[in-house]
Amino acid sequence: MFDLGTIPLGVALFLAGLVLFALILFLRRVIPPGESNRRSQRLAQINRFLDQIGSTLDLDHLLEVTSQEIAEALSCRLVSMMLYRDAQLMLLHQEPKQGRDLSWPLPDAPLFERLHQSPGIFSTMDVSAEDSLTTLQGFFEESNTQTLLVLPIVTGKDVHGFVFAHSEQARRFSVDEIELARILTNLAAVALQSAPLLAYPSQLTEDLEQRVEERAEQLEQESQRARALLRIMRELSSSLDLDHVLNRTLQLLNDLTDSEQSTILLIRPGEDTFYYRASLGYIDPPPVGGRATELDIYDGLAGWIVIHREGVLVEDLQEDSRWLHLGEGLTDHRSAMGVPLLVGAELLGVMLLFHRQPSRFKPDQIEMVQAAANQIAVSINNAELFSLIREQAERLGSMLRTQQVETSRSRAILEAVADGVLVTDADSRITLFNDSAQRILGLKREQVVGESLESFAGLFGGATQTWMNTIADWSFSSTAHDKGSTYAEQITLDDGRFVAIHLAPVHLNEEFLGTVSIFRDITHQVEVDRLKTEFVATVSHELRTPMTSIKGYVEILLMGAAGELSEQQSQFLDVVLSNTERLNVLVNDLLDVSRIDAGKYDLSMQPLRLQELAEAVVDEQMYQAGTEEKSLTIIYDIPSDLPRVRGDEARVRQILANLVNNAYHYTPADGNVSIRARLHGDEVQVDVIDDGIGITQEEQERVFERFYRGEDPMVLATAGTGLGLSIVQQLVDLHGGRIWVESNGVPGEGSTFSFTLPVFIDD
Ligand code: ADP
Repeated sequence: MFDLGTIPLGVALFLAGLVLFALILFLRRVIPPGESNRRSQRLAQINRFLDQIGSTLDLDHLLEVTSQEIAEALSCRLVSMMLYRDAQLMLLHQEPKQGRDLSWPLPDAPLFERLHQSPGIFSTMDVSAEDSLTTLQGFFEESNTQTLLVLPIVTGKDVHGFVFAHSEQARRFSVDEIELARILTNLAAVALQSAPLLAYPSQLTEDLEQRVEERAEQLEQESQRARALLRIMRELSSSLDLDHVLNRTLQLLNDLTDSEQSTILLIRPGEDTFYYRASLGYIDPPPVGGRATELDIYDGLAGWIVIHREGVLVEDLQEDSRWLHLGEGLTDHRSAMGVPLLVGAELLGVMLLFHRQPSRFKPDQIEMVQAAANQIAVSINNAELFSLIREQAERLGSMLRTQQVETSRSRAILEAVADGVLVTDADSRITLFNDSAQRILGLKREQVVGESLESFAGLFGGATQTWMNTIADWSFSSTAHDKGSTYAEQITLDDGRFVAIHLAPVHLNEEFLGTVSIFRDITHQVEVDRLKTEFVATVSHELRTPMTSIKGYVEILLMGAAGELSEQQSQFLDVVLSNTERLNVLVNDLLDVSRIDAGKYDLSMQPLRLQELAEAVVDEQMYQAGTEEKSLTIIYDIPSDLPRVRGDEARVRQILANLVNNAYHYTPADGNVSIRARLHGDEVQVDVIDDGIGITQEEQERVFERFYRGEDPMVLATAGTGLGLSIVQQLVDLHGGRIWVESNGVPGEGSTFSFTLPVFIDD
């Protein structure tokens, strides 16, 4: 009927007002004053009506005024006002009021259809006889209607409703009466047309008010929930004691949801049964920290929540198949609410609330419980993180304490040791300089600690240059050393004292941390060594003279110079001679050793032909073999164009003779010995190769030690001091060469002793 949607409200109101105003002006002009009394009465009534409808916008009031005026105009007992609402004709007002609920729908009647087709006035003096009104008979009977005048409420072509003027008797309305009623109805139609428009905002306002009220109520509920959540959150963040916090939170939740018992069950990593973490309202709550249960995490109502990861509301647990009737106290439970404890996608457990009466919880509560559960889950997660961090911190703390104790102890030990200790960091800065180091090097700790090593070049004395260079090399080049590198040196300080330095790099895993140097004052030791060497040299020297004379006289006696000897006498003298020779070897070896130790070995370097020396040595050895009747083949393989080497003739011969002699001794009869020499760069390498008893790997490391002798029966049967190879090694060293041995230790496969000598270069 009123298509409000298409006309803007303001425009419609303005147009309606304009029409009403024009109509009032028109009517005031077309009905001139001064007509008959009745006419002036009608005019007065119209005027009054216009004033009344002009001053109201309320639909009910409009209907009331209209019906009153029409009742007066027609002098009838009852006027009914009816309007279409959503195509349904509704009785909205009756004048006078009939004491019954209005706004009820009227049944459809053919008359209404007819009046729609051609809006006009309908009147009858006997409603019961009207076929077009049979559906309304009940209504007429109720209102005791005999005569009826129907005035359509029309604007343009639209019929908005009807005015019924009822009369109990049969009566005929005059033309004037009808005319006046029609004018009033038309005026009312115009006013009515605008009234709903105006009623609309008030309707809207009512709707809005209602919605505002509903929303306010929702907001109030939400604010209550928010306040409750806030209290829960405050509670959860009030302490780090999780047990206390969970109990307080469950208490708050119990109060808020009016539940009687509540439980928090957690899922612990790697476990497939629930962990009973906290509860409220039970006689046997879990101990502080919780306890394990035997309840499978996928079983029962809690298991359902774990699987579905959503909240659940159970009206009556007795009726719910998910509920496992387990414990004594649990049989009372009827209502239940359960939610998952989630942190992001991680499920920590479930929270359950119970009541002994069924249907105690409302669906809207579950949302709040879930929100609280989310906070609880965060708190549990935080508490676990916190305890993890605390454990780590404690562990680190105790490690640190142990480290500190260890460091102080190590430092104390380093400070207390009798040897001097100097530690440098990775940048060769001195970080530790102990008491003994102060004493040995004659420097104050304050002078050196924290300073760079280079700045002390002068202080430590010129002798320390190589040691300091080594530290610098190690510190500034990672390839200059490895974990096992060491450096040892003996230095003579400016004041004549002797100091042994041992240096080693310090690594932590692969990282180079610096170096540690140990200083030992060996002045006394050096002095004792010197005295010992001197003593050995003196004694050896003194022994040589009597030895020479003993040997000489024995040889003379054996030659029969003092008369013929019996066989036995010759035998005895042979033993004396052989032992004298052994003693002679020992004395000579000792003399060599003491001379080397005392640094008194003067070498007279000259160009030497190895072929000649080797020939002489081989001749000598073959002579010994002959006298001892031991057959042996000695080959020498020395190229004729081999350059001359630089060396002391007697000493190089001693070296060769010693090696060839060992090869002779430690190779069984009929064995082979070869002497081979080759040029390698600017040095000549000499190999003495035998096919004798060989030397095991372990022995090879020891054969150059002083007094070391092997345990092979052939070695034991041979006279020797165990000094030979050590002297040879030192002699090779003095010539600037190297010596080594190779053997696979298999008897019969022999050994190869090799040494190098520098090629002689003519200046
Ligand atoms: P000595 O020969 O007086 O025992 P050396 O210093 O010359 O002392 O030799 C030390 C040890 O080295 C010997 O006792 C022996 O065990 C071993 N040795 C030396 N040369 C050989 C060799 N050519 N074959 C096997 N073992 C040898």
